Amino acid sequence: MKILLKGGRVVSGQGSRPADVLLDGETVAAVEECLSTEGTQVVDCAGKLLFPGFIDGHTHFDLEVGGTITADDFATGSRAALRGGTTTVIDFAAPDKGEPLAAGLARWRGKAEGRCACDYGFHMTIDDWNGGISQEIGEMVALGIPSFKMYMTYPAMMIGEGDMYRALLRLKEAGGIAGVHCENDGVIRALVEEAKAAGRLSPGSHPRTRPAPLEAEAVGHLLRLAQVADVPVIVVHLSARESLEEVRAARQRGQTVYVETCPHYLLLSDSLYDQEEFMEAAKFVCAPPLRKREDTEELWKALKAGEIDTVATDHCPFTTAQKRAGQYDFTKIPGGLPGVEHRGLLLYSYGVKQGRIDEGDMCRVLCENPAKLYGCWPEKGVIAPGSDGDIVVWDPEARGVITAADQAQNTDYTPYENWETQGAVEQVYLRGSLAVDRGRVLAGMEGKFIKRRNLL
Ligand code: MN
Repeated sequence: MKILLKGGRVVSGQGSRPADVLLDGETVAAVEECLSTEGTQVVDCAGKLLFPGFIDGHTHFDLEVGGTITADDFATGSRAALRGGTTTVIDFAAPDKGEPLAAGLARWRGKAEGRCACDYGFHMTIDDWNGGISQEIGEMVALGIPSFKMYMTYPAMMIGEGDMYRALLRLKEAGGIAGVHCENDGVIRALVEEAKAAGRLSPGSHPRTRPAPLEAEAVGHLLRLAQVADVPVIVVHLSARESLEEVRAARQRGQTVYVETCPHYLLLSDSLYDQEEFMEAAKFVCAPPLRKREDTEELWKALKAGEIDTVATDHCPFTTAQKRAGQYDFTKIPGGLPGVEHRGLLLYSYGVKQGRIDEGDMCRVLCENPAKLYGCWPEKGVIAPGSDGDIVVWDPEARGVITAADQAQNTDYTPYENWETQGAVEQVYLRGSLAVDRGRVLAGMEGKFIKRRNLL
């Protein structure tokens, strides 16, 4: 039976307007005021906002790092995503160094197929460079993977600047785009050596060994390579004001640069690392690290101004037991924060309700822009006739509190414990089916691999 979401306000990047939404099968059949209720199951949405299903362009489910594995696999992570209104995730498939890209893709498809409750895609990690991989880039694009990831830090993943340049050129030819983790690896390693030699082994050393100028330097470095290769690039998880200045300079030169940030860089700051109790500080270890209050405020302004294109989570969850591996050496703390479940709630509570952004901005960075950037528009990212029936029914008046006890994420903590929230997900539809109802996840493991294409 057709479902009619009646009497709500439909949100797009431009703002919201009153409209009913008719779902027929897996797609949106109509979006208009006062649609007929005949032959439909009516859902009263009076007073509610209807967002397109949120897209999280940066998650790490079931990822082995540093001898451990992220606490969420595709099953638990995708349920948590849905519960927070995210109907599509784009995770990172990675070959081991020396393997073909196809081996990485096969492994990640194996982790996700039949085990994912929301729709999903993969970015392909380029952590090696040779003729075979160059050729495979075209094959990946043809398979629906037009986005790639490269690293300027982590020796296991880096390919060096000459090969980065070659990869950027090849991506241009094949119709792909790269997202890049920007931090200056060599100087970070030198700072870590200094800290260790001085016996500064607590989590307080984490942000001090990865300072903002070393992110900005890498952003600038990448953007100069992209200038010479004449290609657009994505700076993922941008955290610092100085990095934004590098992006502005490149845009001033006429380059196309896309910027992603994450809720934790908008909301948390590096004073958390100086907490006395090891675990209280270790919980927040991620790379790049949390920055200063001045940085978070600058990121909000950039978000409002349209200088930041997407907000993704970089969901890379570990339990406190896993974090304890670094009790006597901060470099052994597995890096990453949980967040896939709370992104919409945080942006609404601390962005929209506090007047830093409006609901249209929220829709741009969670829905429209990621759909366009990652090549699944207009199936995803918009509520329009013909689009997938991915809808978040949002109650703007709800109030709540974030706690680990009430999360579906498979970790025993949240960085936002006891944070008060305004607004809430009331229902989520995934391709026309009710997937979440008032906190209860109803969806089975019916998430589909999304074949994406280059729209840029
Ligand atoms: Mn990441």
